[in-house]
Amino acid sequence: MKARKDCATKSNPALRQGTEMKTPAKTALAVIGTVAIDSVETPLGKRDRVFGGSASYFSYAASFFTPVSLVAVVGKDFPEEYRAILKERPIDLSHLETLEGKTFHWTGKYEFDLNSAKTLDTQLNVLLDFDPKVNFTERPECLFLANIDPVLQARVLDQLEKPRLKFVACDTMNFWITHKHEELLKVLPRIDCLVVNDGEARQLTGETNLVKAARKINGMGPGIVIIKKGEHGVLVFHEDHFFALPAYPLEVVVDPTGAGDSFAGGFMGYLAAAEGINAKTVKRAVAFGTVVASFTVEDFGLESLRRLTREKIQERLELFGRISSFTTV
Ligand code: AMP
Repeated sequence: MKARKDCATKSNPALRQGTEMKTPAKTALAVIGTVAIDSVETPLGKRDRVFGGSASYFSYAASFFTPVSLVAVVGKDFPEEYRAILKERPIDLSHLETLEGKTFHWTGKYEFDLNSAKTLDTQLNVLLDFDPKVNFTERPECLFLANIDPVLQARVLDQLEKPRLKFVACDTMNFWITHKHEELLKVLPRIDCLVVNDGEARQLTGETNLVKAARKINGMGPGIVIIKKGEHGVLVFHEDHFFALPAYPLEVVVDPTGAGDSFAGGFMGYLAAAEGINAKTVKRAVAFGTVVASFTVEDFGLESLRRLTREKIQERLELFGRISSFTTV
């Protein structure tokens, strides 16, 4: 198997071309991940059976930049009104399977520290029987392996990675690092970019220092490593480039659930629509991801994303650029 480290080097032509974004008409981006029913408690409230899931947040966020194809599974209990939420956006649902049984259900709680959720319960339900089969008339160029069983991530990669995709990124979490460690390690050499939070980076590598952890992850395969630190922003390790960006400062955070997936959605959506993937587009993609995530946390579930527009993203991006630059006054 060919390691994908060269994605971040001059040897990959896709990484050397132009920079800015055009919204492509065809579906340039696919995601596999969870479509879930969540029960969430934060210091600002409690919601039972809200719409969630890594792929739901991701695809909704990415759809502001490019059409997205969603590969996921739900059970027969999945509410029609939640499916209708996905239909509000250019999200192709032809690979959203419905199986006999219950939808994946996550129960989580945030206490004083909003940067990390405490998982109270994970019911895999129909995820246990899911065997994704992808069949695109036009293969998407970019793929995001959102947080889900790495065995399923690998099955989608098996079907899509040849000929070489423009960009493949992956997310995971403590649940899979603990329960499917070997399977996850086999996915890493096949991707260009890993997006994880600081706790996950430490757990995956055994390193407390995040710079060392990122370098170790680089050594496991991906040329780009993005470490999310909640309200403290992100660190981006991209071969010899290093980039740090704060989070957009908000006075009120209602529900941090989905921030990571929305970050990834904005990041991948921007890159899928960009003409090339290089140090400059990666940096801008990180800024767009940060801004989209800042909207998600302003309400429970996908509610804030549902009120979002491309204009609001642009407006906040410009303000964010001004407040995070120290070379201009
Ligand atoms: P985050 O962006 O990290 O806050 O992700 C939140 C979403 O992840 C929730 O909507 C959950 O449904 C989903 N989730 C929680 N645990 C898992 C898991 N083990 N695998 C996949 N998705 C999960």
